[in-house]
Amino acid sequence: MTQRIVLASSNRGKLAEFNALLAQSGFEVVAQASLGIDDAEESGQSFVENALLKARHAAQVSGLPALADDSGLCVNHLHGAPGLHSARYAGGHGDSTANNAKLLRALAGVAAEQRGACFICALVLLRRTDDPTPLIVEGRWHGQVLDAPRGTQGFGYDPLFLPHGQQLSAAELDPVLKNRLSHRGQALARLQARLAELRG
Ligand code: IMP
Repeated sequence: MTQRIVLASSNRGKLAEFNALLAQSGFEVVAQASLGIDDAEESGQSFVENALLKARHAAQVSGLPALADDSGLCVNHLHGAPGLHSARYAGGHGDSTANNAKLLRALAGVAAEQRGACFICALVLLRRTDDPTPLIVEGRWHGQVLDAPRGTQGFGYDPLFLPHGQQLSAAELDPVLKNRLSHRGQALARLQARLAELRG
C-alpha cells in the first residue's frame, strides 16, 4: 500500500524529484500547499534545525509523515554567509540576480584560492507527527565562487559556483549530472539508503 507523505516545500521541481525517489520506498509525496498548509517560520540557526521545524509543522498540521529540506551556500571567506539567508541575501526572497551581484561584491579582490564554498542540503523525514527519531541526512557539495557568472542552466548561485573537480560551473553542467553531484543529490541518495536499511 502506498503511504502519502507531505513535502514541506512548494517547489514543483523538488516535488517531482522527491516523488521519483520515494516511490520506490512506497511513498506518494504531496505538496503541503495542496493540503492548505502554510510555510513554517524558519527560526532555526542551522539548516538541519530549519528542515526539522518545517517537517514538524507539516506533520502536525496534516497528521501525515512529512519530508522537508533546507539548503544554501556557505562561503568560507564570509564566515558561512549567505548560509541560512541564501534565498534572501540581497533582500528580496529568491532574487538570484541581486543575490549573485551581492556575493560578487562581497568577494571583490579575493583570490581564487580563498573563494572556497560549499552548498549544503539538510533533509528530514518524520515518519509520524511525534516521531522522536527523525531520519536526518545531509549533503555537501564543495567548490569555489567564480569572479563572474558562467552558464544559463540551474538556478540561484549556480552561475557563480565551480564545483571541485569540474571545469564547468554548476550552471554549465548537464542538469542530470548536476543533480547527481549536488548537495541535494547526495542528501537524497543518503535518505534512500537509510530507507532501504529500515526496510531491511
Ligand atoms: P532552498 O532551501 O532549497 O529553498 O534554497 C535556499 C536558497 O539556497 C535558494 O534560493 C538558492 O539561492 C540557494 N540554493 C540552494 N540550492 C541551490 C543550488 O543547487 N544551486 C544554486 N543555488 C542553490
